[in-house]
Amino acid sequence: MTSLLLTGIGSLVTNDPARSELLGEIRDAALVIEGSKVAWVGSRRDAPAADSALDLGGRAVIPGFVDSHAHLVFAGDRAEEFAARMSGTPYSAGGIRTTVAATRQATDEVLTANVARLVTEMRRQGTTTVEIKSGYGLTVADEARALQIAGQFTEETTYLGAHVVPAEFADDPAGYVALVTGPMLEASSRHAKWVDVFVERGAFDEDQARAILTAGQGKGLQARVHANQLGEGPGVQLACSVGAAAADHCTYLTDVDVDALASTGVVAGLLPAVEFSTRSPYPDARRLLDAGVTVALATDCNPGSGYSSSMPLCIALAVREMHMTPAEALWSATAGGAASLRRTDIGRLVPGARADLAVLDAPSYIHLAYRPGVPLVTQTFVGGRPV
Ligand SMILES: [Zn+2]
Repeated sequence: MTSLLLTGIGSLVTNDPARSELLGEIRDAALVIEGSKVAWVGSRRDAPAADSALDLGGRAVIPGFVDSHAHLVFAGDRAEEFAARMSGTPYSAGGIRTTVAATRQATDEVLTANVARLVTEMRRQGTTTVEIKSGYGLTVADEARALQIAGQFTEETTYLGAHVVPAEFADDPAGYVALVTGPMLEASSRHAKWVDVFVERGAFDEDQARAILTAGQGKGLQARVHANQLGEGPGVQLACSVGAAAADHCTYLTDVDVDALASTGVVAGLLPAVEFSTRSPYPDARRLLDAGVTVALATDCNPGSGYSSSMPLCIALAVREMHMTPAEALWSATAGGAASLRRTDIGRLVPGARADLAVLDAPSYIHLAYRPGVPLVTQTFVGGRPV
């Protein structure tokens, strides 16, 4: 196993929970990669020898971003819908059906190439782990196909047969829930780690969502939920009551919702690129953080409500629009994402963790929010290798 010493690190964010301050930042630092893992972190002057060395000239190093919410298996785009929305047409869940129609018609090659393109785009921006959902197939064969394609790019695959009721079941939503909890789950579960439901008016109600999540859990999948995006509703408390890892969106919350998240430890996934792209009010991150809720930031990259693959954009929005500190936003985009995916081997740079990291052309992580829109990530390492 060969080792690589990264030295001359102006600021190293470790997210080491054993260090007192949130990010466990080390100035004038070094880090040793051995094989696919971090072997050592500390002050540059204490660094051990390694097979090779790379001097980063004062640049900052952060854990790679963990994007815990993305919809990448689709065909086509909805640029016209975006343009209409910016001219005053409100966003509704129904637009998903447009992408479903395009995705069903696409070949495996087209879908795979589109995911590859988006994952490459994400890596260039420092993302080292991405969760990928199905949800634009909505037939037994198309959902299983989407998950098989997603599985070529990530271990974090999510069965989202319950994204929306497809047009052919418009008069029979109960029949669709039976499909999602029956044959579709049967075909999809072996390709997925997670089961997810879009709990929203126009999508799935509380009883339907509970049936879908518990059926998935019965097949060994872990639960996560699209909750409280477009209005208050049962999603967050359902996530808490079924033992989900995450309730994502959390834009409209009651005090009871916030208390439930804080007391159960369910991670609140905030997806500010969606509010940005739908010109909607942002979630109240301060209220959640002040209540002790674990917050993750993710892109929700999808062709409808927010087509950004950029975690740095999410950080800039979280700081500028949601009043998170730069440190809280970076933590939520890395360690918070890892918590949302129930992972302890990523989202931190400590000995034994996967060597997933991003090098910034800046002296500190603060520049991610301070210099919005600037491509600061100069190099991304996944499993110890530059990508
Ligand atoms: Zn989503």
